[in-house]
Amino acid sequence: MTKFRRILLKLSGESLMGDKQYGIDEARLASYAEQIKTIADMGVQISIVIGGGNIFRGLSGTDKGFDRVKGDQMGMLATAINGLALSSALGALGQRNRLLTAIRMEPVGQFYSKWKAINAMEKGEIVILTCGTGNPFFTTDTGSALRGIEIEADVMLKGTRVDGVYTADPEKDPTATKFDTISYDEIYNKGLKVMDLTATTMCKENNLPIIVFDMDTPGNLEKVIKGENIGTYVHA
Ligand code: UDP
Repeated sequence: MTKFRRILLKLSGESLMGDKQYGIDEARLASYAEQIKTIADMGVQISIVIGGGNIFRGLSGTDKGFDRVKGDQMGMLATAINGLALSSALGALGQRNRLLTAIRMEPVGQFYSKWKAINAMEKGEIVILTCGTGNPFFTTDTGSALRGIEIEADVMLKGTRVDGVYTADPEKDPTATKFDTISYDEIYNKGLKVMDLTATTMCKENNLPIIVFDMDTPGNLEKVIKGENIGTYVHA
């Protein structure tokens, strides 16, 4: 039995690096693909928004003299590279999947539409959504919020290195404690860095709950899908 029928999974580009400093760690990628296939085999409809921070971020490019819009376009292309890697890893496991892009780039992937994504999921394909929103000045977290709402996902699952939302950064402050549940408003009021504010606001205004959990521990994605209380549940 699964708690969710349709999910939007957000994977950051950085999480694909594993212990590397840049690019893609094949072992981490394969581990993610296996975890994702396990829940697909349980009948869950899955769309995945993938980030690009392991390759390029527009904002850090501006520090080095890049034009912001061109830098963001480079970042969006980075998400397409990661999406191809994930598509390939899922394909290697025999998992059918479809890569959609928010910027036209056939034959790399088909141009995104809500209907293409839903039709593919209903046929049992995992949908990989790349290029974020397709616009500069946004992030893939905002892309996840937008696509999660559009495809009528039951929940956005934000897979991270940390096992939930904490009072402070647990990698820097040993006294930080974890929230089991938290409201969108508490995130604003406490100034917590769960996602950027644009993404959080979209989820709040459209009532898309978020579960933040540690995706690097194999088996956790399945636990979340079964409704086990791991991670932090973000709600209205
Ligand atoms: N990006 C963008 N518009 C979007 C999504 C992403 O311009 O809708 C660019 C932006 O430059 C961003 C980069 O793509 O820095 C990579 O995305 P993000 O930083 O969200 O990746 P993550 O942190 O999840 O790896």
